[in-house]
Amino acid sequence: MNVDQILADCRVPVLGICAYSGTGKTTLLKKLIPELNRRGKKLAVIKHAHHNFDVDIPGKDSFELRKAGAEQMLVASHIRRALMAEKVTDGDPDLKELLGMIDQTRVDMILVEGFKKLPLPKLELHRAEVGKPFVFTQDDAIRGIAVDADTQLPDDLALPVLEINDVDAIADFIEQFAADWKPVGYAPLGTCGCDDVERKQLSVAQGQARILGEVKPVTATETAPLLQAQNRVLGADIASPVNVPQHTNSAMDGYAIRNDGQHDSFTVVAEVLAGHGYDDEVLSGEAVKIMTGAPLPAGVDTVIMRELATQEGDQVRFDGDIETGQNIRQAGEDIAVGATALTAGNRIGPAELGLLASLGLGELPVYRKPKVAVFSTGDEVCQPGEPLKPNCIFDSNRFTIQGMLAKLGCEVVDLGILEDTEEAMADALQAASEQADVVITSGGVSVGDADFIKPVMERLGHIDFWKIAMRPGRPLAFGKIKDTLLFGLPGNPVAVMVSFMQFVQPALRKMMGEPNWKPQMMRATAGEPMRSKQGRTEFQRGIMQLNSLGELTVTTTGAQGSGILSSMVQGNCLIIIEECQGNISAGEAVWVQPFADLL
Ligand code: AMP
Ligand code: MG
Repeated sequence: MNVDQILADCRVPVLGICAYSGTGKTTLLKKLIPELNRRGKKLAVIKHAHHNFDVDIPGKDSFELRKAGAEQMLVASHIRRALMAEKVTDGDPDLKELLGMIDQTRVDMILVEGFKKLPLPKLELHRAEVGKPFVFTQDDAIRGIAVDADTQLPDDLALPVLEINDVDAIADFIEQFAADWKPVGYAPLGTCGCDDVERKQLSVAQGQARILGEVKPVTATETAPLLQAQNRVLGADIASPVNVPQHTNSAMDGYAIRNDGQHDSFTVVAEVLAGHGYDDEVLSGEAVKIMTGAPLPAGVDTVIMRELATQEGDQVRFDGDIETGQNIRQAGEDIAVGATALTAGNRIGPAELGLLASLGLGELPVYRKPKVAVFSTGDEVCQPGEPLKPNCIFDSNRFTIQGMLAKLGCEVVDLGILEDTEEAMADALQAASEQADVVITSGGVSVGDADFIKPVMERLGHIDFWKIAMRPGRPLAFGKIKDTLLFGLPGNPVAVMVSFMQFVQPALRKMMGEPNWKPQMMRATAGEPMRSKQGRTEFQRGIMQLNSLGELTVTTTGAQGSGILSSMVQGNCLIIIEECQGNISAGEAVWVQPFADLL
């Protein structure tokens, strides 16, 4: 097992402390641990012992029960617990297993003593008088060395050198190590060193970057009535014309008073409901019965909730402490007049709609919708709703594509199904490119005898690329005719959806004016082994869910053929296995991209 595998599940930094016996490892740790505690760092320590050791005392029940043959003896009180487990191993105990026994949610870092042979990041301790060789000369994993004054170090040493008695400096070193530490295998998507992977085609990230480089955001805006602006992209910054809330008002049903500490009992002079006001000033010793949302009358500074009030006749008293200013929403506390309430480039969802409505706006500037032309190709492809011709299949791609375009809020031009001839495709592509910002085709893009999309695109405009190192969806042609973007998606229904999600969606969102959009990605633990080949990105359909410990786990939907559209229906996410990853074992971390964005 290599060190990355050993540390794969660690959520906190792990640092080895290595030294020959007699160097004063434990003496140092006894000072270092309190110093790190003082700095707010909680520690776990794993210590390698070479012999049959015992932590219990003969005569204690726990000792006797273990001796009597309990395989695991867990003794616990309200302050401490200890698990003694019998496990005979050949050679050293398994550090990965031991790390798994530490409750990593309760510590900030794990120090490991011993396990000198493992290439674990380590701090070496050295004293000249012990008369032993250095470890760092044999071990690249040494990150620093702490030595006494008599130690002679080579001049060209590239490691940080510390003084072995300087606990403060060693604690600094450890804190810095912890701050720089990155969990193994938790590289953000696409930054896992994939560029070292041998591949013949563009990577997914390279393809995405090439496409985004060609996309020009629409700049034209139009005015949409509030409700019609839902799912459109805001075309200008919105400065608030008003304070939100407009008036300082009550956050509770209760009584508003002037909290000047002069009175135990107050005279109720009025009742104010939401939407009404009290025009006189409230004086010391007076109270106004007030409802949530009603504007605060002049002269009051505090609201006491009704549940703490006892009113008899026109007199009211309150239980408990009263804090001046409590239960009051200040005018402008959400958004002050003139402040930017929402910036251009925000997609307007229900929350944005509500926020803009609360400013009193009846219509909004939004970017023009991009116009997207869609057609299917293939002599075998038939229109649903019509009788199926012999040897044919129903068109599903135009429906998945249009469904996703509708979710994104594009204007769709449905151009139907094209027969597999070069002329039909050329005419259709030319016409489509003259009326649309984007043209999306499916099928006819591989290298079969009836696959004309690529030569036609080349003839009418130009092709940027036509293959991506991914599965499903390797053939994917991207190019342009004049300013119109062309996406030649594969024919297989799952490949169509996956490549739309990965390539068409980012392009359209950028074009629609969402400059900051990024796909939602999460880390999940693979609940089963997953097959993948190094050198291409694999997109499997997954079902993600929380396990009983509240951790996100993911399993595949089963058979992953690129024509099995039911996998997209059963699944709720794509599982992304990166180019450098190869086969995944159960328990390894993978990226998942929820469908929620688009499907
Ligand atoms: P092609 O790249 O044109 O050879 O298509 C690859 C596979 O996808 C073939 O099995 C096609 O029948 C299928 N296919 C192509 N277009 C569609 C479509 N619009 N709907 C469903 N399946 C399709
Ligand atoms: Mg075809």
